[in-house]
Amino acid sequence: MPLSPSADINGSSSLATRQIHAGRSGSSDAPGQATLPVPIYQSSAYEFPDHAAASAMFAQTIPGFTYSRTGNPTVAVLEARAADLEGGLAGLALGSGQSAVAASLLALVSSGPGKHLVVSEKLYGGTVDLLGDTLADLGVTVTYVDPADPQEWAHAATPETRGFFLESIGNPLSTLADLDAIVEIAHAQGIPVVVDNTLATPVLYRPIEHGADIVVHSATKFFGGHGTALAGVIVDSGRFDWEAEPERWPQFTRARERWGHISLVEKCRGASPFLHLCRAKFVHDLGLTLSPFNASQILQGLETLDLRMRRHTDSAAEIARFLSTHPAVRRVHHPLVEGSDDRALAERDFPQGTGSVFAFELECQDSCVAAFVDSLRLFKLVANIGDVRSLINHPAAMTHCRLTEEQRRAGGITWQTLRLSVGLEAVDDLIADLQSSLDELVRRDAAATRTAAHQEVTA
Ligand SMILES: *Cc1c(COP(=O)(O)O)cnc(C)c1O
Repeated sequence: MPLSPSADINGSSSLATRQIHAGRSGSSDAPGQATLPVPIYQSSAYEFPDHAAASAMFAQTIPGFTYSRTGNPTVAVLEARAADLEGGLAGLALGSGQSAVAASLLALVSSGPGKHLVVSEKLYGGTVDLLGDTLADLGVTVTYVDPADPQEWAHAATPETRGFFLESIGNPLSTLADLDAIVEIAHAQGIPVVVDNTLATPVLYRPIEHGADIVVHSATKFFGGHGTALAGVIVDSGRFDWEAEPERWPQFTRARERWGHISLVEKCRGASPFLHLCRAKFVHDLGLTLSPFNASQILQGLETLDLRMRRHTDSAAEIARFLSTHPAVRRVHHPLVEGSDDRALAERDFPQGTGSVFAFELECQDSCVAAFVDSLRLFKLVANIGDVRSLINHPAAMTHCRLTEEQRRAGGITWQTLRLSVGLEAVDDLIADLQSSLDELVRRDAAATRTAAHQEVTA
């Protein structure tokens, strides 16, 4: 079925068209059965036409679906569409963003002696857990650096380094990075760059156009957009040359029994050895599979991606401006507010804005944070982002609670830091919700000051 490459797009370079049609052509379905939306192939496995076809597919000498752990027609449309939107060679969908990050990093460090990564210190909490615990147990070492300072990346790289990893927009503080400069440093030393593009999406930023080699997504967030399904995606630009230093990359350049006694680069000429390793080894062996139903939810979300991202982004910028004027707010971490360190980068690389996830710090005692969060009505207390509904998260107590005090400080997170994921509700209603809770903080603070002054006088 629907793997014929995007004939309907007719050469359009517009994301608005591609997000609806890429990776799918219903005209390749059986006559009279061409569903317009992508159908859900709810099947664990596939009937082979005959023994010869079954043996050839298992030997991977002809393409075809054998068992849904490693491939499914519904999931395949998502893979093709994600690759198309990011401008990559090919895509792979997985059961969650976490598995996409894990598989892409395992593919770089699991073979050969080099097990060092240079990683941004401004990261999603689950990625910090993966690096600091599970990958550390497997012998992987990590140097954390400031995404805003390319020279730190240059100094951190060693002959053992097998990858740079960063988020195009950092979660939770909306931190930006000079990806072009970081890529130049990496490539000069033969190191691939992996970028988590979850917060930006290809609507706002396309890492491959800035030189990134691999792009990963938590499709759970803005791709799906409605908070209904977990999913992850890896896209390979197809540009990193594993054969330039073959001894560094035995997983791609050395013949293996598993690949029919040839190397992955030989097996995958014109395709992606990187994604073949992720799919045929990690997804197959570890079972990091995406269900076809969840793939269908993400595909439906993608159809409106650019419309949603525009509203998300505009509303977030307006809310950031409002927060930066309120006396109960100490600081707003949004690249477009007055005084932000990232403003120049935002203007250069993010002409359409920097998305809807950002953070701010309350000007209040530790004990007031919970009361503030509980008093909100429209902003829901949820450990997620990229939903049509507006969400608030308290990183120090929730998503980033397993970080050490030192990691939290390096990540710029205090007890008063709150992360917002601005949804698609009317922005005036969202501002009114925040305003009423912030005004209450100011009133409570004034009352506390009066009580303290009164006690001093009467003491
Ligand atoms: C949520 C998130 C992940 C993990 O994705 P899941 O789909 O929750 O497994 C990874 N990176 C970023 C930036 C995220 O926001």
